[in-house]
Amino acid sequence: MGKVIHCQKVVPQSGCPHSVRGATVEEVLKNAQEHAKEHGITQVTPELIERLKSFIEDE
Ligand SMILES: [Zn+2]
Repeated sequence: MGKVIHCQKVVPQSGCPHSVRGATVEEVLKNAQEHAKEHGITQVTPELIERLKSFIEDE
């Protein structure tokens, strides 16, 4: 089973339809950090990681 983060749930005001996927928690977090750059977020803080973790869903 893979992991997924729906961008719109993390940043509802973005209206971003992108979903970040990965086989593991580590992978989906890595991909989410890559995707965050598209939103101008280049500084990935421990707080952001924790926030992203709380939005990880199984699919
Ligand atoms: Zn997005």
